[in-house]
Parts: sequence; structure tokens; C-alpha cells
Amino acid sequence: MGHVTAPVLLLLGRGKDSNSERGVDCPGDLPAPSDPGLVERAAAAKAALGDRVFVLGHHYQRDEVIQFADVTGDSFKLAREAAARPDAEFIVFCGVHFMAESADILTTDAQRVVLPDLAAGCSMADMAVLEQVEQCWDLLSDLGIADDVVPVTYMNSSADIKGFVGRNGGVVCTSSNAKRALDWAYAQGEKVPGADAKQSATKVLFLPDQHLGRNTAVLEMGYSLDDCVLYDPHKPNGGLTDQQLRDAKMILWRGHCSVHGRFTLENVQAVRQQVPGVNILVHPECRHEVVTAADYVGSTEYIIKKLDAAEPGSAWAVGTELNLVRRLAAAHPDKQVMFLEKTVCYCSTMNRIDLPHLVWALEELVAGRVPNQITVDPDTAHHARVALDQMLALP
Ligand code: SF4
Repeated sequence: MGHVTAPVLLLLGRGKDSNSERGVDCPGDLPAPSDPGLVERAAAAKAALGDRVFVLGHHYQRDEVIQFADVTGDSFKLAREAAARPDAEFIVFCGVHFMAESADILTTDAQRVVLPDLAAGCSMADMAVLEQVEQCWDLLSDLGIADDVVPVTYMNSSADIKGFVGRNGGVVCTSSNAKRALDWAYAQGEKVPGADAKQSATKVLFLPDQHLGRNTAVLEMGYSLDDCVLYDPHKPNGGLTDQQLRDAKMILWRGHCSVHGRFTLENVQAVRQQVPGVNILVHPECRHEVVTAADYVGSTEYIIKKLDAAEPGSAWAVGTELNLVRRLAAAHPDKQVMFLEKTVCYCSTMNRIDLPHLVWALEELVAGRVPNQITVDPDTAHHARVALDQMLALP
């Protein structure tokens, strides 16, 4: 399959906006993608750096980049791997901006985190900007309900948003521990330990992925769709009445993943018709109706393990990023692994990290220069760390 990117996402990364996940254009002198020596150059630079460098590769990265990763994983696993390597002077993060920020927060001050292309942002993280979230919080305060609201942010958010959440008594979550994070959040308001969380006044403000928040609350915790409201930062009052905000148990931020949000119920129905007996396996960032119609739902790591354990000869339609689905199909030739959607769907910002950018970043490090360093200011880092540590301490 060819490399196709959604034109709208190619606009990401243009322009400098310090409040944005989008980053800026690469300042470097990149080698040409056609250079036949790129693989050798990357290997040579990495060998020259030895243990001084540790290369992290997210599961959605291209094959040409993944081959140089010391470890692969989802965003949370990679942040922990970075934190577990205090001796590595440089962490080269082949992923997107918010992941590199988390790595910077969790590593020592002496370590430097490098993102090979600063334009590798995340459209979902971009959908929650600190100013907007503060406006929302002011609105909840004016309504007199902010004290009952516990903010929870998905890992896929900027350090600013994680800092806001830490400052306001909340927690970070991943797609693997969202239910545990929400259980903890609702329990914060319980006057009587062990009381039914649904009876308490506590609400959650869930950022920035509406789908993960809704899917977890409704499918895993027994809340109804009516318990959830959708806060649109581009509308006055979030597009909600005061009463809707007062009545809600779950205030969902209007954000979504541009990749997982593409899968539709029609995709699920079509593949079931075409491939009798197929197992549908999707990520919880998919829309509610897709997740409800699927057979299995789980994080990237869950998807990988599920296919590892699948019976030879079984058929799987997978609703997640295409680089990963292609690698899974190649890793399981004894199983029928297909993409849930007919049209090609990579994460275009993840795909910005290509071999020329990696070669450039590694060669700069060999030359004694630190390119594209990602740093989070100490105050934001402190509060974001509080919210991350709260996640690590979840029961
Ligand atoms: S796959 Fe979705 S959530 Fe992940 S980096 Fe891309 S846009 Fe962001």
C-alpha cells in the first residue's frame, strides 16, 4: 500500500504557536529521502553515540524508523522506558510532540529529549488548548460546581493540559487504565468511603478525547449516554445549558483522534458481510457506535497481545493506525489480519518522522549539537508530574 496522507493534516506543523502541539518546520538541512546511504548513515551515527543515545519508537511509526528503535511501545510505555534509562544522555523520541514532553517530564534534568521533526504534533492534543480549558473551568466555577469536578486528561494532551489537571487535583490516564482513573476520580467526591459513585455529586471533566471518555463511562462503568455531555470550546457556554452542566456526570471535551475517528459503523457492517466469522478489534478512541459494534476493544498494547494470542486461521479486522496494522499483518502470516477501513489511513503527524529526519537528528548529536530539544517549563512540569504520578499510583 502506498503512503497516503490526509491533505487536511498536512497543514499541521505550519507556523509557530507556543500554545500548540503543532510545532514548527524542521530547521535542519535534511538528507534527501532518495539517498541510498540513509540506513547505513543512521546505523553509523547510532553506533557512534552508543549508550549515550536511546531511541524510542511508537507503534504508529514507519518501518524505516522503527528498525532503529531500541524499544517500541505506546506513549505511556515509552515514557516509562525513557525514565528507566537515566544514563542515556539523549532520548530520541520517534513519536509525536506530547509524548516527547512526557518523556522530558519523567526523565532527569541532565537528559535531553529530541523529537526528530518538530512538526510531528497530534491533532487530538491540539483540540484542547490551555486557554480554552481555563475558560471552561471559569464557567464551572461561576456555576458553583467546579469543586465537584475532577479533571482527567488522556495521555494524548499537551504538558500544559497535564499541568492544569495536576494543579486542580486530577489525574492523567491512558487507554489501558481509563476505567481505573475514572473510578479514582469519582471516588474523590465520596463523602462516605465505598458509597455509590453515581449517587455522589462528583463529575469528571474528561480531556481531550470525547470517545475514550464516553466509551469508558458508558461501556465499562455503567453510566448512560445521558449522563455525558459534550463541551464544545468553540461555542458559548460550551454549547450547553447551565442545567445540562449541573446534571452531567461526565463532561466530555469535544476532541477526537483524526485517525480512529474515521472508522464508522458502516465499516464494521461491511467487513462482517464480506468476511464471515471475522473478529472486529478496535481502539477505544473510535466512536461509540463503532466500539459498541466491535467484538474486542482495547489499547494498542491490548490489540498487539490479542493478535499474538489469536488462533491460526482466524480473521481480524483491526481499527487502528495503519503502520501498526500492516506490521501486525506481516507478523501473523498464519492469520488473516486486515484494516477495518477500505481507504488508507496513517497518522500523518506520526508519519512526519521519516528516515531523513532520524538520520539528521542522530548526526547532529554526533556532531555535538542537540537538535529539536523538547523542554517543558519547570512549573508546568511540576504540576504535570503530579498528575502523572497520581496515575502511576492508581490502585
Ligand atoms: S493517532 Fe491520533 S491520537 Fe495518535 S498521534 Fe495521531 S492524531 Fe494523535
